[in-house]
Amino acid sequence: MERQEESCIYKTPDAPVEARVQDLLSRMTLPEKIGQMTQIERRVTTHAVITESFIGSVTSGGGSWPFEDAKPSDWADMIDGYQNAALATRLGIPIIYGIDAVHGNNNVYGAIIFPHNIGLGATRDADLIRRIGVATALEVRAIGASWTFAPCVAVLRDPRWGRSYESYSEDHEITCELTKLVSGLQGEPPKEHPSGYPFLGGRNNVVACAKHFVGDGGTDKGINEGNTTVSYEELERIHLAPYLKCIAQGVSTVMASYSSWNGSKLHSDYFLLTEVLKQKLGFKGFVISDWEAVDRLTKPKGLNFRNSLKISINAGLDMVMVPFKYERFIEDLTSLVESGEVTMARIDDAVERILRVKFVAGLFEHPLTDRSLLDTVGCKEHRELGREAVRKSLVLLKNGKNVNKPFLPLDRNPKRILVTGTHVDDLGYQCGGWTKAWFGLSGRITIGTTLLDAIKATVGDKTEVIFEKTPSEETLASSEGFSYAIVAVGEAPYAETRGDNSEHIIPFNGSDIVTAVAERIQTLMILFSGRPMVLEPKVLEKTEALIAAWLPGSEGQGMADVIFGDYDFEGMLPVSWFKRVEQLPLNADADLYDPLFPIGFGLKLNSSGN
Ligand code: BGC
Repeated sequence: MERQEESCIYKTPDAPVEARVQDLLSRMTLPEKIGQMTQIERRVTTHAVITESFIGSVTSGGGSWPFEDAKPSDWADMIDGYQNAALATRLGIPIIYGIDAVHGNNNVYGAIIFPHNIGLGATRDADLIRRIGVATALEVRAIGASWTFAPCVAVLRDPRWGRSYESYSEDHEITCELTKLVSGLQGEPPKEHPSGYPFLGGRNNVVACAKHFVGDGGTDKGINEGNTTVSYEELERIHLAPYLKCIAQGVSTVMASYSSWNGSKLHSDYFLLTEVLKQKLGFKGFVISDWEAVDRLTKPKGLNFRNSLKISINAGLDMVMVPFKYERFIEDLTSLVESGEVTMARIDDAVERILRVKFVAGLFEHPLTDRSLLDTVGCKEHRELGREAVRKSLVLLKNGKNVNKPFLPLDRNPKRILVTGTHVDDLGYQCGGWTKAWFGLSGRITIGTTLLDAIKATVGDKTEVIFEKTPSEETLASSEGFSYAIVAVGEAPYAETRGDNSEHIIPFNGSDIVTAVAERIQTLMILFSGRPMVLEPKVLEKTEALIAAWLPGSEGQGMADVIFGDYDFEGMLPVSWFKRVEQLPLNADADLYDPLFPIGFGLKLNSSGN
């Protein structure tokens, strides 16, 4: 008995990771190996499925939550239940639970919601982003998950793209610098850590995932899942560069992109997945597919799945986000190995990579949730951090019609003010997509502070705050009574292809609402959007001040901090702001570069006018 224990290297915590990997691999059957390569969706997961199919990973795709307003402890119970089912298998290999925590643990009610990446790009503050990673890791760990599909390191070359807000910048150097989220999520690796080898600092950290490999932000006309037409040199210089930074920090996983490079779908591209990512860049973690991406290799979806699977596994996919039809996946991959169309060496390589990450992540030693972390979800410290991020992400585009007469900061003790617009009191709109639901929602969707809440909490007791979602004629007729107006308009939430847009007109008649108010009352306009929008001349002329607030998340108080002058503005545009949509794609590398505001633009309170 004792002897058997001794020889079980994979169960020995202080044995070298590579020895543990090889020991465990040598004990595994083909079904156990294929199970490790399978990621299934929570909605088809049962304890029996996990044990019988040796499932390696479970996910909550697009934020599917166990039930409406599930508490963090409910998530932990659910995930621990799955984990116990995995531990009950012959070899007891833990599952790794993955979730899209892309701006905080955004699927969980009450979690802190940080600004989306585009807003963080405006902060240019790599250390802030690292700290956001630290906080997010705690809130993800608290619910029993140990892997987040973040960061998205897409370099945004065309704001028509529906995922623009998931990118930090159009500039690859800025994007590279802001990959620090990886060190926040996973922990900072020591100097001697070998580049490319997965890393995890400890039980308060989570496995990160750099996505979507590669060129997702560079598709023609910004079409989601489209084609990126660039030379290899340009792909490397612009789109691959952030991956080098992630890999140097020990990023443990990489997600392949739905998009194509010069007509070749990334999920089937051996050159990019294997020769470049794994061989040239030395990436030793594992590559996960995107959601149902193997099905999407063909049109219609899933046509000859077996063939698509063969191509993508041979191209270098290690784990497949199946997510529902796991039986078909297992059956087809088994038959591909039996027929020799996928070699055992390829399977072993994939499984080694997955096991390596699981050992590095400490899942064998600590498979279950540390319930002491539950208190971190939406805690005061994290809300303070969110507030700081909001404050630093706002970009002041205009301050005063007259250079000598700045409009901001606003007086906090006026007699009467008008606060209006579709976005002034909507937490869901403030958070955008990937918040509680994949495509985002409207209303009080979680705990947080709207812009209206923040204004009310900041102005003096004697100030009368008149709030109207749409300003009424009556109110506008009595405009002399108002010291100023704050009008918030912008985009409604969306995700992925649903967000592809080539109009960029502020929805819900946003420009008209702003102008109607600004014609009568001195107006500060706040724009909530995942990317630049058309700012019509009348809007630019009539407003006194204009702020790009991006998608700031749950901590609206950060907006009041700068509007009322407790802090100065620090945000700088992470992307070029076009004048007209005909200019698109517009980025600093464009031939005819004539933006309304260039990348890097951002006023300070003490630098009036523009
Ligand atoms: C998205 C990924 C995401 C995955 C899992 C896909 O549709 O492209 O970014 O991580 O879903 O939810």
